[in-house]
Amino acid sequence: MNRQIYLDNAATTQMSEAVRQEMEPYLAENFGNASTSYAIGTEAKAAVTKVRELIAETLHAKPDEIYFTSCGSESDNWAVKGIAGAYKTKGRHIITSAIEHHAVLNSCEYLQKLGYRVTYLKPDGNGIIAPEEVRQAICADTTLISVMFANNEVGTIEPVTQIGKLAKERQIIFHTDAVQAYAQIPISAAQMPFDLLSASAHKFHGPKGVGFLYIREGTQIPSFIHGGGQEGGRRAGTENVAGIVGMGKAAELAFKNMRSRMQRETMLRNYLMERVMHEIPEVRINGHRTKRLPGNISFSFRGVEGSALLILLEEDQICASGGSACNTGESRISYVIEALDVPEEYAPGTVRLTLSGETTKEEIDAAVESLKRNVDRLRN
Ligand code: PLP
Repeated sequence: MNRQIYLDNAATTQMSEAVRQEMEPYLAENFGNASTSYAIGTEAKAAVTKVRELIAETLHAKPDEIYFTSCGSESDNWAVKGIAGAYKTKGRHIITSAIEHHAVLNSCEYLQKLGYRVTYLKPDGNGIIAPEEVRQAICADTTLISVMFANNEVGTIEPVTQIGKLAKERQIIFHTDAVQAYAQIPISAAQMPFDLLSASAHKFHGPKGVGFLYIREGTQIPSFIHGGGQEGGRRAGTENVAGIVGMGKAAELAFKNMRSRMQRETMLRNYLMERVMHEIPEVRINGHRTKRLPGNISFSFRGVEGSALLILLEEDQICASGGSACNTGESRISYVIEALDVPEEYAPGTVRLTLSGETTKEEIDAAVESLKRNVDRLRN
């Protein structure tokens, strides 16, 4: 085995060649500032406008509901801190889940230091946040509910439509972190009751350093970055034109073949799951069996140290992850795995494999063989 087998697409994806080619002119001759009025500036502005329209279409939203940001973390920070600030006279209570990405969790922690109350809902054993738990947590002063669309570590897809409906009934703003879900599974702002949604280009074969926040028309939210009048005066900073163009191309490609890619990834993921379950003893699947992202699978092997297993996988040229990339290097059990109450003999042996549209059956077979050999080696 000498070619690298990349099974860590939840950490980041390889930028596609078509995306790189689309960006190239904006890194060279089309370098204009989108806020200027001469040709290279207006061309840049036209390119940004086109992507705003395209992204809006993919989400069944309006173009002026799409705000470009520098990453998913910025989108999450803006949504959580922005809404908390905008509605602080109404109340200072926020509901979120214990398995959010740190961009949401640490924003909430920051707000707690400013005097806000935050309820962190625990998921069930499959990583699902029950709408009923959300309903019970709502207080008279709740202003924001933030629950992710799909979890980055275990792939579970959350019941965001039901949670959003509960929020609407009580006039509470609902934000969903869709960094792992956007461009992987269908999402509709026309049909789903979220007010804000975060996404990030590098998770769907776009460039790093660019993302967006969807803000439903009529939602009160202050600027996160103060300065010039870009993004309708709501997010200052000279536009990352090349990045935005790259994100647009990546979204276009992702949506073009989404159905067939979802089917293929689901089939390969189920094949991987079945082989591991049948061929390696004492293993658990983390997250919901079916309500999960097509390309995500998380295993916990009994009596194995996950970090040691990752090193052995890497010797076989296989890139995987122990939890989220932000947690690698830490030997402690991930907070998501802890929140799912994975038994202590299994929890340290957690490995996440995440597929892309490019993943092949041969790569999955090689990963299974490596897992079999190396789990056995570590157990002995
Ligand atoms: N939210 C989720 C669910 C994620 O998985 C990530 C990245 O892993 C982020 C937010 C942060 O996105 P970014 O890397 O673009 O800042």
